[in-house]
Amino acid sequence: MTELLQPIQSTKTTCPYCGVGCGVVVRTQGKKIIDVKGDETHPANWGKLCSKGSKLAETATENVYGQVRASQPLLRIQRDQAVAPTDWNTALDFTAKEFARLIATYGPDSVGFYISGQLLTEDYYVFNKLAKGLIGTNNIDTNSRLCMSSAVSGYKRTLGADAPPCNYDDLALADCVFIAGSNMAYAHPVAYRRLEAARAAMPGHKLIVVDPRVTDTAAMADLHLKIQPGTDVMLFNAMLHVMMQNGWLDMATINKHTEGFEAMVKGLADYTPRLAASVCGVPEADIVTAATWFAQSSRTLSLYCQGLNQATTGTDKNTALIALHLATGHIGREGAGPFSMTGQPNAMGGREVGGLATLLPAHRELNNPAHVAEVAAFWGVKQISSTPGASAVEMFDQLEQGKIKAVWVACTNPAHSLPNSQKVARALQNAELVVVQDAYLTPATVHYADVLLPATTWGEKEGTVTNSERRISRVRAAMPAYGESKNDWQIVVDFAQRLEQELLKLGVESSRLDGSHRDSQPTALAGNAFLHYSSVEDIFNEHRETTRGRDLDITGLSYAVLETKGPQQWPMPEGEPQGKARLYEDGVYPTATGRAKFVFAPYEPVAEEADARFPWRLNTGRLRDQWHGGSRTGTLAEFFSHEAEPVISLHPADFKRLSLTPNSWVSVKSRRATITLRAKADESVARNQAVLPMHWGPEFFGGKAGVAGVNALTTEAFDPYSKQPELKHAAVNIQRVHLP
Ligand code: SF4
Repeated sequence: MTELLQPIQSTKTTCPYCGVGCGVVVRTQGKKIIDVKGDETHPANWGKLCSKGSKLAETATENVYGQVRASQPLLRIQRDQAVAPTDWNTALDFTAKEFARLIATYGPDSVGFYISGQLLTEDYYVFNKLAKGLIGTNNIDTNSRLCMSSAVSGYKRTLGADAPPCNYDDLALADCVFIAGSNMAYAHPVAYRRLEAARAAMPGHKLIVVDPRVTDTAAMADLHLKIQPGTDVMLFNAMLHVMMQNGWLDMATINKHTEGFEAMVKGLADYTPRLAASVCGVPEADIVTAATWFAQSSRTLSLYCQGLNQATTGTDKNTALIALHLATGHIGREGAGPFSMTGQPNAMGGREVGGLATLLPAHRELNNPAHVAEVAAFWGVKQISSTPGASAVEMFDQLEQGKIKAVWVACTNPAHSLPNSQKVARALQNAELVVVQDAYLTPATVHYADVLLPATTWGEKEGTVTNSERRISRVRAAMPAYGESKNDWQIVVDFAQRLEQELLKLGVESSRLDGSHRDSQPTALAGNAFLHYSSVEDIFNEHRETTRGRDLDITGLSYAVLETKGPQQWPMPEGEPQGKARLYEDGVYPTATGRAKFVFAPYEPVAEEADARFPWRLNTGRLRDQWHGGSRTGTLAEFFSHEAEPVISLHPADFKRLSLTPNSWVSVKSRRATITLRAKADESVARNQAVLPMHWGPEFFGGKAGVAGVNALTTEAFDPYSKQPELKHAAVNIQRVHLP
């Protein structure tokens, strides 16, 4: 039957781009997508979509996929050979033998998994179980480390759990909104439109934006605090100082529901608005105004993202901002609270299943022996290592040093997106084995793959994701898998069963695995193998069981409930008719004492201060119409009508000082690399600062892997608590160059 004679099907699923997590409806006829529209019943977007979401149909056509998709397994047996097409059995057998050999020879920490916030929760769960349960290594981390880990450590340090307390309805209920380090207009467009509409409907609404740039978001603000990069902690501390001096605190909330306030008062004594004005480079009066509006509005909501998180002081920035809410009682109420906006579509789902180097399922911690024992018993393994694994930056450091011998990269492009990306390229080059599991032939990382495992992607796979407001949505397949690609979870399971056999042959099983518990565990599913599932729903059900009694308890949720009731926020324990819209409304926090904590965070400068050799401050960020490394958005010409190529933006006075003219070329040099590109004068950028979009990788600048891309410039220095690198600031030198 031709496509046109086939019935039209509608499938509800979720947009694969940002953490807003908009619902979409995909109409298909046969194998073809007819169109993609916003889902009018989805609470994240009520039918609205941004430029990226509204073009999902165009980026998923056969024409586009023919150019960019991984369609069949590829393999090279030796490094000096080119990869060649192979079949799934050969690719997975080879990979399992190599992993088993390395584990038997060098131990389980000789391998690592670098996965992605683009994966679905079920994919994440099986990857985590493979690494920590079967292999016995905690070397599994994710590109969400580059995105949300400082927000996570900020929440845990102050409120006791990795749990954003608010929801999107609060955007319309707050009468004061404080946005710090987020260009929502570009990064979370549909949520931003909700905020715009709320402002229009609420006379006297106040919007404060903290950002070194005049972004589209900052341009809408009633008060824009154009701070020097990295000085957020100084600003937030000074705002709290002003509130204390003026008696604008909610002492009833502080006394009843918090601890550590006395130490906070002491710590903040020197953080005067005058000092902050000089460090942050903003008028003292504006700091006082921000403190006044924040404290004295009836409902203040903070929204924040990478400008706070991607810093060596990211945890401190989050901690200092949350202290403003605890001190003023703007938390646990409608329209009030600290609300981190998730960058990726499923960064939160990955944390729920513990898919990071320091976590275990259901927000359990590796440094908690009871948690380690619980998970070991649940999975039926003799033990789980309590040694933290290598986080994102550390993993590629250890790969470069030869401590990690093999890395498995899934659904991400580290040779493009990690800081100091040339070092990452060297690490991949030096590795004994690089496995890349991806739907797309990402140019930078795929270049190093010894094994390429083609995966399904949006529109082809089933599972769940969790958005910024803790809302779990279904992801559904509307089309068949492209080429020979397989679902990510199926690839992991197929590999795990082979690996277990190979480890048994090498005698590794007895030291690490204990099969005696497997049949007795309540969630053990069909079959005898450790990772054996007959459907993606089986994995969800096992994950759900790990959450019983935890802060994110979803034992009241199932695929059937998601089908009938629609997307739900966690927690939703058994017996609850729906998920919980807001957290901490009772003033009880998941800490040892039940009280939220004030933690004084002293101001520390950025890792790499500008100096005589590198006098410019470089900020990297997102464009409106592009997404990450452009695997998907880079396929459509119209996405380049906003910005056609990477151009570095400089203040007009600096542009003139460098004797630049439109289309001039500049070299941008950091302590790690140099790239050459065009420059433009841009009023939105402050003096002595530069802004560069992050979407172009090495392939744009040199046409081949290993040549410096945008992230070759950025520093891998990371926050000591969250291990999130400082992608938002690097010291650079910029000079005009004349190209032949
Ligand atoms: Fe997709 Fe985010 Fe745009 Fe919504 S706002 S359509 S989730 S990219």
